[in-house]
Amino acid sequence: MKSIMEKLLTRTEFREGVFARDDHQCVICRAAGQDAHHIMERRLFCDPGQLGGYFLGNGATLCAAHHIQAEETTLSCEQVREATGITRIILPSHLYDDVRYDKWGNQIEPNGTRLRGELFYDESVQKILAQGGVLNEFLPNTRYQRTYHLPWSNMTKDDRMLEDVSQFEGQEVVVTVKMDGANVTMYPDYIHGRSVKPLAGQDSGMVKALHAQIRHDIPAGWHLCGENLYAKHSIFYGTLPSYFLLFSVWDDRNECLSWDEKIDWAQMLGLTPVPVLYQGLWDEKLFRALYQPQFRGSDMEGYVVRLARRFSYGEFRRSMAKFVRPNFAAGRHNYHSVLELNELAKETELADGEDK
Ligand SMILES: [Zn+2]
Repeated sequence: MKSIMEKLLTRTEFREGVFARDDHQCVICRAAGQDAHHIMERRLFCDPGQLGGYFLGNGATLCAAHHIQAEETTLSCEQVREATGITRIILPSHLYDDVRYDKWGNQIEPNGTRLRGELFYDESVQKILAQGGVLNEFLPNTRYQRTYHLPWSNMTKDDRMLEDVSQFEGQEVVVTVKMDGANVTMYPDYIHGRSVKPLAGQDSGMVKALHAQIRHDIPAGWHLCGENLYAKHSIFYGTLPSYFLLFSVWDDRNECLSWDEKIDWAQMLGLTPVPVLYQGLWDEKLFRALYQPQFRGSDMEGYVVRLARRFSYGEFRRSMAKFVRPNFAAGRHNYHSVLELNELAKETELADGEDK
């Protein structure tokens, strides 16, 4: 949230302020400045209070040649900041403070490989990355994005809130139970948790075995996201329909399939979707009263709302949001102790649950 502290400028103030601070010289080579460059792309700054990313700390004067290199990302954000004397990194608020990014918001891993960010498939971005010769640095894996809280949710440290929910109004949405497990992403040839490191941990055997069974049916370039509920975190589940519940399916353009398409895929792959609380038009009044302390015999952490239609990776934070109940303390199971396990429903309990 540090980034929000700096004053947001107008486009003209930004340009004039950046040039004045840098004496109208390219911060890299001291040639005459041509461009008041956005260190992080302006389109990444979408939240109110950050719109356009016109912060002095997100600007640097560059000559034409260095401007091209910065756009191609062969000149890194860190190099530009350092040459400019910027010590406080300004990031779009939905990105993570402890992660490195290139100008276009693609995550850079410690070994230099990159993950496709929300602007990766943008035509102009593809062109400039190709021109820079850096496309071969990208992994096919994608990090699961931060889900923003609904305004009536209960936030903890580092969470982000959607200040405006108008994008949902008049739209068909699906509300599902927020499950308290571990986030898992499956590709045809890879499986990872919330970061893109290989999945490890005592609780991952079941979900890895499941992946081995279905992976040949996942189309090339696609991925599935769901919750691994094998081990208990903060909430004990005694009647789970499955240890892995599917919440989204993403295609080879990193677009999230519509809810109905996802249901079709769940059936084809033999997977169970997350439980649905509501499907229909957005209804804020209803949703504000939707939280049920108990759901099918388990505590309920909260719920997740998504647009029923397809949306792109870049639209994620305006297409999904969550409610977390008051005083929910997210827990992690202790990897050094014996796992406490959740339990599957017996056939009869499952049938009863489905009828409701
Ligand atoms: Zn220069």
